[in-house]
Amino acid sequence: MRPYIREKTAFGFDELPVNTSFEAGYLVTVNSGWRSIRPVVESAKCVGCEQCYLYCPDGVISIKDGKAQIDYDFCKGCGICAKICRIGAIGMEAER
Ligand code: SF4
Ligand code: SF4
Repeated sequence: MRPYIREKTAFGFDELPVNTSFEAGYLVTVNSGWRSIRPVVESAKCVGCEQCYLYCPDGVISIKDGKAQIDYDFCKGCGICAKICRIGAIGMEAER
């Protein structure tokens, strides 16, 4: 079997979707409460670099008005976004 080869291998930043590339609720159910910590964006620090958006494995971060926003319905609390944010604009807080 031939491996699948993308015809287009290079993408410009402006070609990336500004939001999740699929309707999350279409594929998974809303987080049912097993998340123990949640990422919280400190808007004053966020510079809208979109690194968290690019690395979030669940595609639940979007950039609105130059700031990261998280869809808590589907965020699983893995903390990757907090790790990847180099300026420390995302902190992980305990679920209450
Ligand atoms: S990585 Fe940090 S600074 Fe960049 S958009 Fe995300 S929260 Fe904002
Ligand atoms: S904690 Fe994980 S799933 Fe939630 S927004 Fe950050 S990277 Fe995405």
